[in-house]
This record gives sequence, structure tokens and C-alpha cells, in this order.
Amino acid sequence: MDQSTTVLFGLPGVRVRRVERVESGARVVHVETAEGGSAAGCPGCGVVSVSVKENVITRPVDLPYGETPLTVAWHKRRWRCREPLCARLTFTEVIDEVAAGRRTTGRLRRAIACAVGDACRSVAEAAESFGVSWPTAQATVIEAANEELGDPEPVTVLGIDETRRGRPRWTLRVEAGGKWVHTDAWDTGFVDLQPGAGGQGAAGAGRGPHECVCCGLASAAHARVPGGGAVRGDRPGRGLCQGDPHRAR
Ligand SMILES: [Zn+2]
Repeated sequence: MDQSTTVLFGLPGVRVRRVERVESGARVVHVETAEGGSAAGCPGCGVVSVSVKENVITRPVDLPYGETPLTVAWHKRRWRCREPLCARLTFTEVIDEVAAGRRTTGRLRRAIACAVGDACRSVAEAAESFGVSWPTAQATVIEAANEELGDPEPVTVLGIDETRRGRPRWTLRVEAGGKWVHTDAWDTGFVDLQPGAGGQGAAGAGRGPHECVCCGLASAAHARVPGGGAVRGDRPGRGLCQGDPHRAR
């Protein structure tokens, strides 16, 4: 096929073989791995293989294009690794846009992450718009956020607050007449009380890292957590700071 179709499709690392329209009216773009890449390099040892074991077809979900559905059929090869010391016996081709084990293209994941992170669209709406499931869209957003934000700074001041992570959990209490009760009625969770750029706890906002959020005293006598951080509660009568010396004042 004319290379102009490959240029029009625009997915780096593959070349368009042909495009067909199936009975449903959807279009199928048949692509193959472009020559000149490192797709035949063994992920275990890096040696480029010349021994084809079989041909396989995968169908990564790609960006929508046009008004009728467009699917991708990637015809790729499974290679044998002949290196005696390599643990990988076979491997399939990968490209930067569709890494090993991926069922979506990189440009689709970037578009979903931008839709949610930059355009403030909901994950559910973006998932439906791009033709993927909610878990796939959510995983894409998390992946992009982790890449953008990097690893958080270590927590130096650990606090306790009514902060629940995830959905509420319920337990069936037979002794209570078969009632479902909230497992943690207080939604107690650990929070980062460090104020400033790395801090997330509202209770610690505006206070120094070594200042008690309960009474304002220096927290040298507070309980210590492994690694040197202080453990504090967000108000009198709650949290692990109940045993601190200033409680007796
Ligand atoms: Zn190998």
C-alpha cells in the first residue's frame, strides 16, 4: 500500500498494509511492524533475533478517527531467542507506542490523561468517549499522574484524621439482628501533617513541622515513628498524642 496511508494513520513504529471495511461498517486498519526498529530485539538479552516462530495478530485500542468505528489489527511476529544464556525462549514484537502486554496505544492513553487531567472531564465520560472501560481509563490517569508528580517526599509528621481512603466497608453483625454496620464508623486514617508543598493534612496547615497541632508546644516529647517522624493527633482526645506530657497541663 502507498506509504501515504501510513503517514495518514500516523502511529509511529508500524506500517499500514491495508484498510478494509467490515459488514458492520467499521473500518479495520491492518498494520505491521515498520522495518528499521528494534522490535525484533529480545527483551531478555537484547540480541536481535532472525528466527520467526509464528505470526500473531493483536488488536490494541487506538484513538477514534472519523464517525465510524476504527480498529487496529497489528500483524506481528513471535521470535525465538537463540541465545543459550537467555531465559526468554520466545517474544513478540513491541514498539514504543504499544509496549509488551499493553492493549492500548500510547497516544490513546495520553489523550485520556489529558481529557481528565487538563480538560477536567470525568473518568467515566472520557472512558465512554474513547471506547475503553472505566478501569482502563482510571489506570491511564493514575499512570500519567505518577509520571507527572513523581515520588512524594517522605512523611516526617504523621497524623490521624477522619480520612477514609477508598469505599466505606461494612460488616454483617449477626448479634445485632443481621444488620450491616460500618466497619470503621470514624473513618480513621493516617494523614501527612507536614505543612508546605509536601504536606497534605489540613490540620497541620500553618504550623511548623515540630509544633503540636493540639497545643502548639514543641513536639519533641511526642511519640516517634520508625525513621524519626512524629505521630500526632489533630485534636485533644483523639490520636496517638493522648499520651504526650502536655496532656496533663
Ligand atoms: Zn534473549
